[in-house]
Amino acid sequence: MKVDWLIVGAGFTGAVLAERIASQLGKKVLIVEQRDHIAGNAYDYYDEHGILVHKYGPHIFHTNAKHVWDYLGKYTEWHSYYHHVLGYVDGKPVPIPFNLNSLYTLFPPRYADKLADQLLAQYGFNVKVPILKIRESATGDDLRFLADYIYNNVFYHYTRKQWDLTPEELGPGVTARVPIYISRDDRYFQDTYQGMPKLGYTEMFRNLLNHKNIKVLLNTSFKELEGEVQYERMIFTGPIDDFFEHCHGELPYRSLHFKFIHSPEDNMQAVGTVNYPNEYAYTRTTEFKRLTGQRTFGTTYVEEYPQAYKRGENTPYYPIPKEEYRELYRRYEAEVTRLNGRVLFAGRLADYQYYNMDQAVARALSLFEKTIAV
Ligand SMILES: Cc1cc2nc3c(=O)[nH]c(=O)nc-3n(C[C@H](O)[C@H](O)[C@H](O)COP(=O)(O)OP(=O)(O)OC[C@H]3O[C@@H](n4cnc5c(N)ncnc54)[C@H](O)[C@@H]3O)c2cc1C
Repeated sequence: MKVDWLIVGAGFTGAVLAERIASQLGKKVLIVEQRDHIAGNAYDYYDEHGILVHKYGPHIFHTNAKHVWDYLGKYTEWHSYYHHVLGYVDGKPVPIPFNLNSLYTLFPPRYADKLADQLLAQYGFNVKVPILKIRESATGDDLRFLADYIYNNVFYHYTRKQWDLTPEELGPGVTARVPIYISRDDRYFQDTYQGMPKLGYTEMFRNLLNHKNIKVLLNTSFKELEGEVQYERMIFTGPIDDFFEHCHGELPYRSLHFKFIHSPEDNMQAVGTVNYPNEYAYTRTTEFKRLTGQRTFGTTYVEEYPQAYKRGENTPYYPIPKEEYRELYRRYEAEVTRLNGRVLFAGRLADYQYYNMDQAVARALSLFEKTIAV
């Protein structure tokens, strides 16, 4: 077989690039995907109870990038959805990210009033202040107590479960991102555009890839294709260290085990996701009907159990955010320059970088505009 472009991986990065190259440049594209489905980690399907579930954990779309929202809007209608998260702290479900409402759920009203007044006086309204900053800059004992309380009860054990590392081992960059949101807004995201593809992610991908110049080969790793396909250029969206046969050592990841549970109840929790920072081996539970708005009898939810990643045994999900691994990634990045532009690398595995879906789409669109279409 002869094509213009070979794309490895049918996730957001590979699918968007295939669509752009096929529709804008009129070139022939072959996508090769090792799994038995398109849509990468955003893949969704109807389980045996007829409920639309996300195979690789809950995916909620949110973005401030209008061009990304408009681009995907050509391939799906949106179900309007704002994600809400509760976290169990001292046995009570409190809004996450921690905000002014969380104060009133946890503390006696007069003490919550006092903390809220001090937060507002020192930092202002409708701002997200990292708890590290509050710990460092708070002028009184009350706010320092609050920052320590959130760090210990909401953040510390969740981080240990998620990464099997302490916040200190992960570095200040990660801790710095955990905010107190000085607001009564309980939504998990504040992005301008939020929603779920009305007929699901997989259907949106089907529309994206529905072009006469695009062919998709499932159940095939790109190494199996050697000698079978001739191509001018390649885009690789798999793990960059795999491509170079781990010549500098393996890039580490965190993996997850997903346990899907069906219940005859119509709902099993009050919001889309409930976090368990301190209890249980799982980090969170997500009820899919709450995300998709599907109306059916019974409900399906998923528990997420973080686990170590072992190549060949489970799936690499999260690059581990430590500087030493970024250094290792840069050694692979240096190898890329030796390929003289014939192979382009993009996506969360090839860039060794956690991307939200909108960031993966934005990265693919920009790679197309700046490097491919020129
Ligand atoms: C648990 C979890 C929850 C998430 N929730 C959200 C969320 O709520 N909102 C959000 O915006 N983002 C979320 N994300 C992030 C989202 O999944 C990513 O942004 C998105 O998957 C990136 O797309 P990608 O194409 O770069 O990678 P992927 O989706 O991983 O696609 C890469 C594809 O390449 C294939 N592949 C790899 N190597 C080979 C090979 N050698 N041969 C053939 N095929 C290969 C893989 O099988 C895979 O299908 C979440 C991620 C995880 C792990």
